[in-house]
Amino acid sequence: MSITTNIEEIQQELAPLSVTLVAISKTKSNEDILEAYNAGQRLFGENMVQELVDKYEALPKDIEWHLVGHLQTNKVKYIAPFISLIHSVDSFKLLKEINKHAVKNNRVIDCLLQVFIAEEETKYGFDHAELIEMFQQAEFAELKNVRIRGLMGIATNTDKEKEIKEEFYELKMLFDGVKVSYYRKEDTFDILSMGMSSDYKLAIERGSNMVRLGSTIFGKRVIKHFKTV
Ligand SMILES: *Cc1c(COP(=O)(O)O)cnc(C)c1O
Repeated sequence: MSITTNIEEIQQELAPLSVTLVAISKTKSNEDILEAYNAGQRLFGENMVQELVDKYEALPKDIEWHLVGHLQTNKVKYIAPFISLIHSVDSFKLLKEINKHAVKNNRVIDCLLQVFIAEEETKYGFDHAELIEMFQQAEFAELKNVRIRGLMGIATNTDKEKEIKEEFYELKMLFDGVKVSYYRKEDTFDILSMGMSSDYKLAIERGSNMVRLGSTIFGKRVIKHFKTV
């Protein structure tokens, strides 16, 4: 199956459900990305800053780039001028740093708050209490150059469907609760980013409206990075 066919099939599947596709192109070549682009795909996601910046510079400027991997505060400056959506805001400190660089670039940067829902202990993200604590701080309300568009989560990497569904359900409940409590008046708190190639159907059943698909589109990745850049 070609990248073009994959994109067309997935878009056909997602469009009637009003689910947005982010094509996760990490480790993939500019040529592969261009094939997806020529099939109509405009949203692409990467998990490493350097790779993201290189691809942004080389590829068409109407691509909207998303960051889906952990972001170190000292790397924010490299992506602040152009990033469309940061899915992986996992601390208040990072959010403040993004706001600072958004101000410098005279932009408002769209962000999702990453919530820890998986079993594994190594994953990044807020827990519920940390999230609520941040919302209640006066300093949070003063961040005018970041716009919180919603939440993102990564389910446990398991083949136990029940467990995955429960994790997605938990995130959906939290999303609804946060929306009602803190974003009742804004209609821009509207993105629930959950679901990857192995679990996106379960995520959509549980209320996801943005899925992040890599291998379903581009084929399997050769695992080559164990470090975070
Ligand atoms: C790599 C990655 C994806 C895509 O994974 P696939 O299993 O290839 O679909 C989605 N989300 C995040 C955060 C990722 O790092």
